[in-house]
Amino acid sequence: MKIAGKAIKKAAQTSLFRFFASSFEKLPWPESNVLRVLTYHRIATKNERLDLDPSLISASPESFDRQMEWISRDFNPVSLANVIEAMKSGNGLSKRSVLVTFDDAYLDFMFHAWPSLVKYNIPVALFVPTDFCSAETSSFWWDQIHDAVNNQSNGGRLRVGQREFSLDNAKTRKRTTKAVKSYLKSLDHHQLQQEVGSILEQVGYTKSKRSVLDWGQLKALSDQGVDLVPHTQSHPLLTRVHASVAREEIINSRRCLNEKIGKVLPAFAYPSGYYNEEVVNILRDEGFKVGFTTVRGVNDLEVTDNLKLRRINIGAETPDALIRLQMCPANLKTQSKIASQFPSV
Ligand SMILES: [Zn+2]
Repeated sequence: MKIAGKAIKKAAQTSLFRFFASSFEKLPWPESNVLRVLTYHRIATKNERLDLDPSLISASPESFDRQMEWISRDFNPVSLANVIEAMKSGNGLSKRSVLVTFDDAYLDFMFHAWPSLVKYNIPVALFVPTDFCSAETSSFWWDQIHDAVNNQSNGGRLRVGQREFSLDNAKTRKRTTKAVKSYLKSLDHHQLQQEVGSILEQVGYTKSKRSVLDWGQLKALSDQGVDLVPHTQSHPLLTRVHASVAREEIINSRRCLNEKIGKVLPAFAYPSGYYNEEVVNILRDEGFKVGFTTVRGVNDLEVTDNLKLRRINIGAETPDALIRLQMCPANLKTQSKIASQFPSV
């Protein structure tokens, strides 16, 4: 899957591919009530915030600005409120509608993404894991593991679960970080927290710089027009916790946004895209109207379950031509055939 994804990205950088994609996009695709949702995480250069996991970088500030320029020119950016209203009224969305979303409320949204969104007048929905916005709360586990394991230089070995990993040199530390992250994602939330604690203790990791927007910054962004959307409190994978915990995480993040910001739309994004019918039913019970997954594709709002909306994830290596191709209504039928490009968390 990964090899296919890399091959597609490489091919997408050629002029022949761009010609093909552009011709394909211009075909008279039938489009009625089609919604494209783009997913971004961090907007940053590779050399800033080396303490954070680079796999979450979606674009450099320059690439993001360029993408917003052609989106504003060639598409019809809509707000989350527009989407909810279209679902409610049944009137449908205008042609070439696209919703820009950001997961996890990283600090760089404010410095690198928001200025371009303002410049091109593009609405945005920002998904906020509310526990991380208080000053006393530390950063995400995947960033801590990256910094503690990949960036440490003491050597030695690391015991995780039943296995031992080498920390001898940069190459093995990189390999270890990847393997450890993959193992941690297979655990239930409680076990994951315990293992992360054990890893940090073994390497003597204590520092953790703020990486998520705080409440003052979020309030300022909300006042300027950013839609803040619940994304749980502590960002657990909702299929790896008890249903009662999933419900608490969902409704408490909504309540927290309401208390701190004063308004919240009835929408939700599943952390790392993990959901099942039990989780979807919790959203339905609690009055949510829109749920965002990480399943690749565009949405025909006439037939899609509004609590299982598909999105197009943008990676730092994703060429613009490939993004545009995925935004084509043809992707309603072909989404499952394109290799996954989702980040590892
Ligand atoms: Zn997330």
